[in-house]
Amino acid sequence: LQSSTKNSQGKSSLPPKTHFAATKIEVPSRQAIALISDHGDPAAEIGKEEAGGQNVYVRQVGEALAKLGWQVDMFTRKVHPEDATIVQHSPHCRTIRLVAGPQEFIGRDRLLEYMPEFVSAFQKFQVKEGTNYPLVHTNYWLSAWVGLRLQERSNIQLIHTYHSLGAVKYQATGKKPPIAETRLAVEKQILERANCVVATSPQEEEILRSLVSQEGNIEVIPCGTDIENFRITMPKADARTKLGFDPYAQIVLYVGRFDRRKGIETLVRACAQLKAKIETQEAEDLHPYANLKLVIVGGSEPGQADGLERARIEGIVQELGLANNTIFTGRIGHDLLPLYYIAADVCVIPSHYEPFGLVAIEAMACGTPVVASDVGGLRFTVMPEETGLLVPPQNVEAFAGAIDRILADEIWAQKLRKQASIRVQQNFSWTGVAIQLSDLYRRLLAQSLIHPAFYHPQLPIQAVDKSLVKAS
Ligand code: UDP
Repeated sequence: LQSSTKNSQGKSSLPPKTHFAATKIEVPSRQAIALISDHGDPAAEIGKEEAGGQNVYVRQVGEALAKLGWQVDMFTRKVHPEDATIVQHSPHCRTIRLVAGPQEFIGRDRLLEYMPEFVSAFQKFQVKEGTNYPLVHTNYWLSAWVGLRLQERSNIQLIHTYHSLGAVKYQATGKKPPIAETRLAVEKQILERANCVVATSPQEEEILRSLVSQEGNIEVIPCGTDIENFRITMPKADARTKLGFDPYAQIVLYVGRFDRRKGIETLVRACAQLKAKIETQEAEDLHPYANLKLVIVGGSEPGQADGLERARIEGIVQELGLANNTIFTGRIGHDLLPLYYIAADVCVIPSHYEPFGLVAIEAMACGTPVVASDVGGLRFTVMPEETGLLVPPQNVEAFAGAIDRILADEIWAQKLRKQASIRVQQNFSWTGVAIQLSDLYRRLLAQSLIHPAFYHPQLPIQAVDKSLVKAS
C-alpha cells in the first residue's frame, strides 16, 4: 500500500515516509501517547449502538502500537458508574474512562457540551499521573474538538482520524441536525490545524479535499483486521456444523449495527426478490440452487435506536414472507464471528455510505466473497470480480443480481474466496497499520523537537471557542 502526506499543493510537508517493509521501529524508552475516542469506548462490547468500527480501530491500533514499543493510553467518556475507570488490556495499553457529564449513554449529537469537562479531566489525569503526552491521536469530530483545545495549551503533535464525516452524512441523509454547522466547522479546523489527518482510504482523502478543505496534511493509512483471528481455519461445512446451519443452504450474511444508513432493508428486499426468482424457476429445475438463508448478525437494545431499526427490519422480513429464511443472531463477539464468515457463501455490505467498512476486510480475511455498495472505503477494499462485487447503493435489483451471480457459480466463488483472503493478509493486518502509524508518529515527534516547547495547561477551557459550544 502506498501512502502519502500531502498538503493542498500536493507538496510533501512532513519528512518522507519510510517504506512499509523497510520501517524499523526504535522507540528508546516507552514513550507515552494518548489516543482519544470520546464515545467509542475501546473496552466496550462491539456490535451494539454506537459501538462499532471506531471502538475496534482504537482498541486494535492501541494494542498493536503497544507491541511496537509505545505506552498507549486510550481515553474515552465514562458512560456507566459501575464501569472500571481504568481497564488494562496489556502491560502497556490501557483504556482510561474520564468523567465528563452524566455517567450514562448520551447520543453523539448531544455530547459536545461535555467536551470542555473532558479536556479538564484529561489534564487532571496527566497531572495526577505525572505524565505528558507529546502526541495525541483523536478519533471522530468530538475528540477533534478536544484535541484542538489541547493543542492550544501545549505543543502536542495532533493526529486525527475522522471515522465518519458530517459533510458526507448530511449529504446522504439530506437532514442537518442543530449540531451540523458546529460539526462541519470542527471537521474543517482539524484538517487545517492538526499536524496530520489520517484518511483510511484514497477515496476518503479525495472527499476531504473536495468537501472539507484544501489545506492541511493528509496521510493515507488503511484500517486493519486481526488476521490471526479472521482467517480460514476450517472448511465451510465444519463451520456450519458448529453453528447448526444447514450444510446445503445458500447463506447470505450481514454483520453490523442496526442503523438505517447500513441499508439492511435493501439486502432484505434483494433476498425477497431472489427467493421469488428461485421459486418461479424451481418447479422447472431451472435455478441452480433452492435454499436461500439470510443471517443477520448485530446487537440491539429494545427501545433504543438500534432496537427500533431491528424491529422495522423484522417487520419487512415478515411482510415479504422471508421469516423462514432469516435468522437474527443478535450480537456476536469477535471470538465467534470468524465461524459465521466462514460458514457464509457471501457477505453483503449494503451501506448507503461507508468511510472504510471493517466488515468487508473481516469477511474477506475469512475467505468470504463480498457484495458491497460501491461507496467510500468499500471501493478501496473490495476488488470487483476478484474478491467480490460492487453495486450501486440502495439498488435492490443490483444487489439481488450480484448475490445471485456468486451463489450460482461455486467454481468462481472458490476463486473469489482465495483471492479475498490473500488481499487482506497482504494489505490489512493491524500490525501493518500500526507500523505505518508508528512511523508517522516518529516523524511528527522528531519534527516537534525543532519547535520551542510551550505549555499552558491553565488556559481556561470555557473561554476557548465558546461559540462552538453555544451552537450545540
Ligand atoms: N461487530 C461485532 N459483532 C456484531 C456486529 C458487528 O463484533 O454483532 C463488529 C464487526 O465485526 C466490525 C465492527 O463491529 O469489527 C463494525 O465495523 P464497521 O467499520 O463495519 O462499521 P461501523 O460500525 O463502524 O459503522
